[in-house]
Amino acid sequence: MTGKDTEGAAAARRERMVRLQIANRGITDERVLDAMRSVPRESFVAPGYEDFAHEDRALPIAEGQTISQPYVVALTADAARLRATDRVLEVGTGCGYAAAVFGRLAREVHTIERLPGLVDVARRNLAAAGVGNVIVHEGDGSLGLPEQAPFDAILVAAGGPRVPQAYKDQLAPGGRIVMPVGGGYDAQRLLRLTLSDDGRFTTDDLGPVRFVPLVGREAWPTGGPSAG
Ligand code: SAM
Repeated sequence: MTGKDTEGAAAARRERMVRLQIANRGITDERVLDAMRSVPRESFVAPGYEDFAHEDRALPIAEGQTISQPYVVALTADAARLRATDRVLEVGTGCGYAAAVFGRLAREVHTIERLPGLVDVARRNLAAAGVGNVIVHEGDGSLGLPEQAPFDAILVAAGGPRVPQAYKDQLAPGGRIVMPVGGGYDAQRLLRLTLSDDGRFTTDDLGPVRFVPLVGREAWPTGGPSAG
């Protein structure tokens, strides 16, 4: 039980995390389970939190933000049905952990973060973990990332009042948006929108979730749902 775990001990913790927190909750896609086993979550948590990295909860990171609960990352990846050929946009990079997991499942991941301090943290964490197919951008991800569109999947790691039109416009046919939507911190639902070949969207409600607010031009004002 130390921040200087051997690789074998860390792998055993990840295996236990995957079995108890993810497979036991009904996620059976072996590609998703393997991705969760292979990314070293302990390398992405804030310094001092390594011993808690595999617990069943979100943890604080710099700038008052969080690294998502492992199950939520797996649920998002599973809901998005990522394929090895997909190009993905993640909104809300944080420390880069989820982007690394999505990078195991897809061809290329663009991830965008509004807080410059976290952009630096994520770039460092991803480089240290040897992740080569994730590109970190700085900016307001509520507008998507038009210069890299279209995407096969847009995965949003912060909760907004609605799905921005920009995400719909930046999706390839057959693409999926997975995003927490709701009136406030306690009232978010994880939604999956799927774009059919004839241009129509179908929406699935994947249940209640709790994410930090998506703050931006097409989302909440600075300070979150209760501000402004
Ligand atoms: N992806 C993360 C992980 O690996 O666990 C979790 C991210 S954290 C729950 C949500 C992040 O979304 C925060 O870092 C926050 O700064 C970011 N965020 C909020 N609004 C944003 C916006 N408009 N554009 C980009 N990032 C945003």
